[in-house]
Amino acid sequence: MVRNMNSEEAMERLKEGNARFVTGERKEYDFVARRKELLAGQHPFATILTCSDSRVRPEYIFDSNIGEIFNIETAGNVVDEVSLGSIEYGVEHLKTPVLMILGHTDCGAVTACCKLEDELAGNLGEIMKKIEPAALKTQKKIDDAIDENMKCVKECILQNSPVVKKAAEDGQVKIVLAKYILETGEVKVLE
Ligand SMILES: [Zn+2]
Repeated sequence: MVRNMNSEEAMERLKEGNARFVTGERKEYDFVARRKELLAGQHPFATILTCSDSRVRPEYIFDSNIGEIFNIETAGNVVDEVSLGSIEYGVEHLKTPVLMILGHTDCGAVTACCKLEDELAGNLGEIMKKIEPAALKTQKKIDDAIDENMKCVKECILQNSPVVKKAAEDGQVKIVLAKYILETGEVKVLE
């Protein structure tokens, strides 16, 4: 079980798991036994907000077992009321010691926003609006915009979620910005 882990221990677990993923030496998990164990409840040690990109899968990237990571996934890893509610569930209710905002290289959503010439209509346009401040701030340089978008998302979370803000201030949760490198499988912690 992974109860009562602190943020350093949780980050260590994520780092070790990612190192295994990078080299391909993955752990063998007994999912059948683990499923039974988890019937008593879930105690994940990290809440991870990441992009919906099919190449960026937290359980694989961190070579983790089921019941260890509470995932929220949106294109461009942006937040709205609903995804923020899910993040709050992970932080406040499940008490994960880490909240990771995980962006990635070659993000299609950020790239689209940087290359956008006319306003996009509909729901996709709503995603673009969320990424736009980061694109503008970095003169639409895609790599910089990806990092800036993560910072904007963190600010957006702190501004719109008193629950997460308080948990961060109280030291109950550590907010980590990290970037997944598609080429190597490595996760780099930015802050
Ligand atoms: Zn993406």
